[in-house]
Amino acid sequence: MYPPKFDYYRAGSTAEAVSLAKEHNGKFLAGGHSLIPVMNLRLADPGALVDIGRLDMKGISSNGDTVTVGALTTHAMVAASGDVPAVLSEAAGMIGDPQVRNRGTVGGNIAHADPASDLPTVMLALKATIHTEGSSGSRSISADDFFVDLFATSLQEDEIITSVSVASEGKKTGSGYAKLFNPASRYAMVGAAAQVTVENGVCSSASVAVGGLTPKATRASSVEAALVGKKLDDDTLAAAAAAVANDLDDDVMGDMHASADYRRQMAPVFVRRALEKAAARAK
Ligand SMILES: Cc1cc2nc3c(=O)[nH]c(=O)nc-3n(C[C@H](O)[C@H](O)[C@H](O)COP(=O)(O)OP(=O)(O)OC[C@H]3O[C@@H](n4cnc5c(N)ncnc54)[C@H](O)[C@@H]3O)c2cc1C
Repeated sequence: MYPPKFDYYRAGSTAEAVSLAKEHNGKFLAGGHSLIPVMNLRLADPGALVDIGRLDMKGISSNGDTVTVGALTTHAMVAASGDVPAVLSEAAGMIGDPQVRNRGTVGGNIAHADPASDLPTVMLALKATIHTEGSSGSRSISADDFFVDLFATSLQEDEIITSVSVASEGKKTGSGYAKLFNPASRYAMVGAAAQVTVENGVCSSASVAVGGLTPKATRASSVEAALVGKKLDDDTLAAAAAAVANDLDDDVMGDMHASADYRRQMAPVFVRRALEKAAARAK
């Protein structure tokens, strides 16, 4: 398979990338591990690609309170990081295979907003902020507002993600990711991300999201409500995981790999696994 013809531009700066995208109605090219396959399948025909691969947007930094991940940071770098919350490094380490993790980027993953991707789910659970630059200026967008629908985000056409920031994980906080792998691609048929804080033996805050089920990753507010104020014992975790059924509407999707009903049945199983990891790490 080969892609339709396109013009190629390499950006030397963020401002140039934005201006090239606007001028040529081009798509940003980062790791190319989602964009090139969809072009090869003729599902996208952008006409112009703006290569952002050499921009200075790679790396992870922490100021103690906040961890910032550059948009061009690869999944492998995130998986190896001890600075990011456990749920983020764990999920990044479960993406695809080594080749995908060495080429695919955080910015590209969330911009593509594939419902089977892992990072949108994690970004929701971590209440991440997505930082962008565009011809109308810079924005900081909450993950809740960023993911709009199937393969759709609130990004403008010429708007580039520069970085993503999340709160550092304190000692009383733990997080975890659990995933039902598509056996061929390793994309998530169900993905669950959880972060909990335990104070004086009781859960003082919880943030949970699920992906792979619905057109866009979903916050599991019923699960969160079933955790806060409780001791995180087996009974609480089981009841909270079961509550994810209340967070799933009629839009659970099925395909040749797993029916909607099967995914719905698997959701509490993987939410519980994510909660168990998060609770153990919070202790
Ligand atoms: C075999 C295979 C298995 C995979 N398995 C998984 C998996 O298990 N879990 C998972 O989550 N993902 C998986 N992926 C997807 C992978 O994680 C991709 O790396 C990722 O989805 C896209 O990142 P990229 O850097 O390759 O982006 P690209 O393919 O270069 O771009 C993707 C889209 O994002 C846009 N874009 C890229 N960077 C930016 C930016 N900074 N600002 C604005 N827009 C931008 C592009 O214009 C394009 O529309 C898999 C991919 C393959 C090929």
